[in-house]
Amino acid sequence: MSSDLRDLYQDVILDHGKKPRNARVIEGATLTQPAYNPLCGDKGTLYLSLDAAGDKIIDAAYVGQGCSISTASASIMTDFLRGKTREAALVTFEHFRDMITAAPDEASHRAVPNLGKLSVFSGVAEFPARVKCATLAWHALKAALSQGSDTTAKPVSTE
Ligand code: ZN
Repeated sequence: MSSDLRDLYQDVILDHGKKPRNARVIEGATLTQPAYNPLCGDKGTLYLSLDAAGDKIIDAAYVGQGCSISTASASIMTDFLRGKTREAALVTFEHFRDMITAAPDEASHRAVPNLGKLSVFSGVAEFPARVKCATLAWHALKAALSQGSDTTAKPVSTE
């Protein structure tokens, strides 16, 4: 990765870390999922509103406290999720996790274009300790979408 690209990615993460988008409670959310990363202390709650069929994500929000990586990841993820189907969201989680758990020399190959803005996290692959920060909101997403009709979610932990 060129250093210019790395700087750009860092700027995007810092911007979202300082001014997270969608940091609000969705009243009457279809799914509510708390999440906690004990390694770093990041914690938060993901809110999802689904369409009547329960298949498409109409709105996504995340309220949390944590490091800039976890905050930025939740911010960019919630932007990304709006309008996506359940299936597309879960497939993207797999790609995202593959990207940031790739060996450093593989990371540039894994930053596939269809991840769009989510690619800014490809550099996290070089910092294994931060992977759980970057995936916390995504683990919450996966747990939320696995809830089915049980809306009394237990907190998901990255451990
Ligand atoms: Zn963190």
